[in-house]
Amino acid sequence: MTKCPRCKAEINYLIKYEIYDADETIVFFDKDKKWKEEWVDGVNFFSEEYRCPHCNKLVARDEDRAKELLNKTITKKEDVLVASIDASGTISSVTPIRKEISL
Ligand SMILES: [Zn+2]
Repeated sequence: MTKCPRCKAEINYLIKYEIYDADETIVFFDKDKKWKEEWVDGVNFFSEEYRCPHCNKLVARDEDRAKELLNKTITKKEDVLVASIDASGTISSVTPIRKEISL
């Protein structure tokens, strides 16, 4: 389970939006009074957006980033104290070790 970087809700899927730009046409009556539609411009470019299902905010702009986000294992860093005990049974040293714990 991963968390939305924006709202911190736990998420296991994202909503993918594919955005296409519309064609631009002009409409008019020609000299014979016929209705005409003429294509002017159009852009093939489309972009992807991946949004959080909870807050609907943009969290990734490509599939790799979306996969990376959903694959992320949430880890928590915790200090663990490791004690060394010598042969006589007395604690000789206590060393704090920073450990990554998967939640
Ligand atoms: Zn969110």
